[in-house]
Amino acid sequence: MCRSFSSFRCITMSTIKRYASNHAPLDSSKLIIEKTTTPKIKLPNDKLIFGKTFTDHMLEIEWTEDNGWGAPKISPYHALKLDPSTVVFHYAFELFEGLKAYKDPQGNIRTFRPNKNMERMNESAERIALPNFESEELLKLIDKLLIVDKDFVPEGKGYSLYLRPTMIGTTAGLGVGTPDKALLYVIASPVGPYYSSGFRPVSLEATDYAVRAWPGGVGDKKLGANYAPCIVPQLQAAKRGFQQNLWLFGKEGYITEVGTMNVFFVFKDKESGKKELVTAPLDGTILEGVTRDSILQLARDRLNQDEWIISERKFTIYEVEEKAKNGELIEAFGAGTAAVVSPINNIGFKGENINVPVSLESSGELTAQIGEWIRKIQYGEEEYKDWSRIAK
Ligand SMILES: *Cc1c(COP(=O)(O)O)cnc(C)c1O
Repeated sequence: MCRSFSSFRCITMSTIKRYASNHAPLDSSKLIIEKTTTPKIKLPNDKLIFGKTFTDHMLEIEWTEDNGWGAPKISPYHALKLDPSTVVFHYAFELFEGLKAYKDPQGNIRTFRPNKNMERMNESAERIALPNFESEELLKLIDKLLIVDKDFVPEGKGYSLYLRPTMIGTTAGLGVGTPDKALLYVIASPVGPYYSSGFRPVSLEATDYAVRAWPGGVGDKKLGANYAPCIVPQLQAAKRGFQQNLWLFGKEGYITEVGTMNVFFVFKDKESGKKELVTAPLDGTILEGVTRDSILQLARDRLNQDEWIISERKFTIYEVEEKAKNGELIEAFGAGTAAVVSPINNIGFKGENINVPVSLESSGELTAQIGEWIRKIQYGEEEYKDWSRIAK
């Protein structure tokens, strides 16, 4: 059991999970459901704003050091009551996930590769000494929440229910140490398409004066503490007329991520005519996006391997600049759950602009193709491996 070790050993000894003890595991069969008596009025699709309104219910599970996971509860959406000294407010014992639920043509509610989010959530928890949980049990509970709130899952292309699983340390007291209490909760917000009328390519500013993540850091975990420091560089970019910032790392100018998305570039070698789809490797500074992984798998599976090289490798802003000059930069896009793919048309770097081609009306060809491949699987129009889970 991890608690007898320092939290550092807890991380290195990853085979020792905190749930591997006599304490109660997370058990979906203990679920208690208390339904609202005051249902909310559902907003029409055109009034949905990302993360502003929530469904009627939420899921909560308390964990204690002494007893493990308590009985899961779905109850009316409500405020949390916590002591002002609670560790989450002082030392950022907080992690989260982001995934979406989609209504398929038969009216089923589906989630896209939610097991990947559970894996990542457990890895985030382990890194900040919060408890692990049984992934499949949380998925069953999320399915139950989706069934209870299914009328909130909007219909239509690009519409979905955004799910926000969250875990916080709830021990009261200012001592810096391993929390002996935690709360895992899931809230859900109906959302519209990231781009309300098709794609809109974005202009990026390459940020070289601040870094998002560093070797040995926690940039590969979805910890709340990683996000607040990203807002000021984002504001700086906005002030100069850019919609997002491109995170560089090191004096070499390695390209890592864009805003809170992974990033892909397409190059075409002039001599061989071969195209390369490239994204940064998972070296600990890159968030392991479910969308990123899905794009790599689909590209390896579906693109003609005589024409394409699919690369996870380090590459720099200087390489992009050089390739743009030679006409070897074909397209670029961000990738994440919110937008799936987000086309890029420009990168501001050291006062100059690197123009990124956009071959179709509002995105590159591969960007559009990949967006459509993933959308079809998400909405259950097409089955692919076990990537789509139906809530039962
Ligand atoms: C969540 C996130 C992503 C994208 O991950 P998905 O699982 O594809 O949504 C990429 N980068 C950062 C920094 C993130 O927080």
